[in-house]
Amino acid sequence: MTRGLQKQQARANADKRAAAHAPPKSQLKAMAEGNKFKCPKCMLMIANYKLVVQHMEAKHPKEVIPSEASFNA
Ligand SMILES: [Zn+2]
Repeated sequence: MTRGLQKQQARANADKRAAAHAPPKSQLKAMAEGNKFKCPKCMLMIANYKLVVQHMEAKHPKEVIPSEASFNA
């Protein structure tokens, strides 16, 4: 029970961090430029950082999610 709640809270916090790192303006820019993000684990092309975070949490929950800046470097 408690573990499930903590996981939900962690996910909510991750969403807040992602939102802070990826304001709507940069998401639009990323979409205009196509799938510029790539999952470091399975090399899946992903349109924007928020989706990268969602993908990592869903598919690779044990992996550390890289910062948005690391994709632009
Ligand atoms: Zn992946």
